[in-house]
Amino acid sequence: MSFSAEQFKQQFPLFAQEENAGLVYLDNAATTQKPLSVINTMRDYYIHSSANTHRSSHRLARKSTEMVEQVRDKARQFVNAASGKEIIFCRGATEALNLLAHCLCSELEPGDEIVISTAEHHANIVPWQMAAKRHNLILRYVPHTAGVPQFDRLGEVLNERTRVVSLTGGSNSIGLRPDLSLIRQLLRRMHIMWVVDGAQLAAHEEIDVQKIGCDFFVCSAHKFYGPSGIGFLYGREILLESMPPWLGGGEMIAEVEFQQSRYAELPHKFEAGTSPLAAIAGLGAALDFLSRQDRVAMAEHEQRLTRMLHRELSASPNFRLISQVHHNLGIIAFVPVHGSATDLMHWLDERDIAVRVGHHCAQILGRTSGNQVTVRASVAAYNTDSDVRDFLQALDDYCEVQQSAISDEEVEPTSWTRDDFSLLQLERLASHRNWQGRYRELLLWSKVVSRKPEIRNPENLVRGCESEAWLVHREIDGRHFFGLDSDSRVVKGLGALLLSQIDGCTTEEIEALDLPLLFKELGLSKHLSQSRSNGFYALMRRAFHQVESGENRL
Ligand code: PMP
Repeated sequence: MSFSAEQFKQQFPLFAQEENAGLVYLDNAATTQKPLSVINTMRDYYIHSSANTHRSSHRLARKSTEMVEQVRDKARQFVNAASGKEIIFCRGATEALNLLAHCLCSELEPGDEIVISTAEHHANIVPWQMAAKRHNLILRYVPHTAGVPQFDRLGEVLNERTRVVSLTGGSNSIGLRPDLSLIRQLLRRMHIMWVVDGAQLAAHEEIDVQKIGCDFFVCSAHKFYGPSGIGFLYGREILLESMPPWLGGGEMIAEVEFQQSRYAELPHKFEAGTSPLAAIAGLGAALDFLSRQDRVAMAEHEQRLTRMLHRELSASPNFRLISQVHHNLGIIAFVPVHGSATDLMHWLDERDIAVRVGHHCAQILGRTSGNQVTVRASVAAYNTDSDVRDFLQALDDYCEVQQSAISDEEVEPTSWTRDDFSLLQLERLASHRNWQGRYRELLLWSKVVSRKPEIRNPENLVRGCESEAWLVHREIDGRHFFGLDSDSRVVKGLGALLLSQIDGCTTEEIEALDLPLLFKELGLSKHLSQSRSNGFYALMRRAFHQVESGENRL
């Protein structure tokens, strides 16, 4: 078999929609798109087979139950578990990790230890913290260098009290993929339970839990082309057998008496309540879909794109790469040298390029590495070379605009009262024929807005702006004056546009303005992302409220 990204992409109807014709989707670590077979299977389930499982014995219930057990077997094959009893359906990796933290830790003694790493997703940190607090356990971290866990030094934090080691199979924020065979070596012959958070890993390579040698493995279908709301936990039968159940309710019992109950056999002991049945059907379709692909060729394609992106970004003086190309699942994390990561994300969004900016649910890694906010581009097999080229071109354009905007001297901080908006000419902004020119002009306008640490307090924070922004107002002799601050250049630029229209005006003059119309006529509503537009309107509403309420009148 071989692999063609273009042909693979054709199986995903989202990309065939007119509104998505230019979409470059590089947010796959958050969730992947779904192939038609998954969508149709879920629809067909409701049309042809919908009934609750296991409890009733009529035709539809039998059909639905059969489907669930068939999907369980597909999941078993997907990770090469020894038995279907070892596959527990749950909502996803988060729920599976909560189940493990709850059930494993309730059997531990105070002072027992759990080891995790700085590269874990919050889903593999917080449940252990909660359980540690409840049972007086000690949480340890794999030694790290500038935040990056050194898995080869895992042995340094293991001791006779270590009971659980729960580590990522691949980090969602920097793509780092530990060498699982090395971890297996280090844990060999120690009676320690090993959990692998495979939420990212399962999308990128074939999983064999017996070969990995872990005791537990968790994953979420939506990360590998399946539906959201379903995932599963693999656990070694002997361990699942000895664990207490987690949630109580229907399905997980054999017999209920007045004071106590007898629990169902595996795997049902851990599946209380009605399962998300259509999602299970969709998971089955996703597993079938993956089994029809050449997974090795798919992974090679993803790795080639990952290398291309790392090569280009590492050669650019305008970006600082956070992720490394080696042992990487397909995640490129970086920060722009000039301007904020959020501004860059919006710039990309305005070109219909989807990436993510933030801490990526890995605040400990962000804090320990000093990179609290990064831009993350994550690849899937339907990403093409042209996606990568469009992304890199957009980054180049962004840098060009940033450079021309920062070449002038930075504006010195002054007090908020007297930012001078009089030089900002609307005609000049409107005269730029293309959007790029207008955007550059807006960035230049942002320089009129001086830094004002004194107004940065919760009272002045404007709600509804994605990037933080603070706005203050004073009315002097019937005229309104405003002070604005933000870390985002785009927000400052948009704020400067707003204040160029209203600063120094009377209430009547302000009320006579039609700012939404102006915003539209300048093409801002067309080219800016929804959240940026919302930011402008949030600033406008706050300013109008200040004018109307007559706050701070002198
Ligand atoms: N672990 C990792 C590494 C992840 O990337 C994610 C999802 N981003 C999770 C756990 C949690 O997965 P879910 O939200 O599907 O439960």
